Amino acid sequence: MKRNLVLLGPPGAGKGTVAKRLAAEHGYLHLSTGDVLREEVAAGSELGRRAKSYMDAGELVPDELILAMVRERVAGKSGVLFDGFPRTLAQAQGLEGIAPVEAVIFLELGREEVIRRLSARRVCPRCGALYNLITQPPKEDARCDRCGAGLSQRDDDKPEVISRRFEVYMRDSTPLVDYYRERGILVRVDASRPPEEVYAQVVRALCDDRP
Ligand code: AMP
Repeated sequence: MKRNLVLLGPPGAGKGTVAKRLAAEHGYLHLSTGDVLREEVAAGSELGRRAKSYMDAGELVPDELILAMVRERVAGKSGVLFDGFPRTLAQAQGLEGIAPVEAVIFLELGREEVIRRLSARRVCPRCGALYNLITQPPKEDARCDRCGAGLSQRDDDKPEVISRRFEVYMRDSTPLVDYYRERGILVRVDASRPPEEVYAQVVRALCDDRP
């Protein structure tokens, strides 16, 4: 049976890019809590209404809401690739009661590079493809390579929210590095390398780490 994996790391480290490729090429079920929340906000659901103010401010959505959302989507599944979850110790502990985690890929990236990358991140509002004007620019200026739609910037990738998101990551999410290291399942990957190299490191780590 396929293992459940966690992608850990600051915003902008490349979790979404790695996750989309691992899902497409290795059959993982990609669960990005950020993507699910954005869908809920767009749909105007009760969860979306409750989450929106936290997201706009770069703060974390409360653990109970996130854990209920994940529990509902993961029940009975395996081979899940968690992207952007868990983000707090309480979420990591909660996840233990939902699904076992066999490996945690930690995409390491410093503050300066996070700020630089998030400011340059663009998304395709139609098909969800991810771009970065520095590391992965579209072929044609500001248009999606896949579907041709005009690219946009996420509201929380605006300068005033970016710094706050990094602070929140440092405060709430870095304790997860020790948490998973102590459990012997943490794999460190240097996320400052170009996307192709980062992906190759991740795949190698997953293969090496098989019993
Ligand atoms: P992301 O796309 O992962 O950067 O998430 C965007 C925003 O959604 C975050 O800044 C949080 O407000 C919220 N969010 C996503 N995942 C979580 C999570 N696991 N716990 C709490 N808030 C989250």
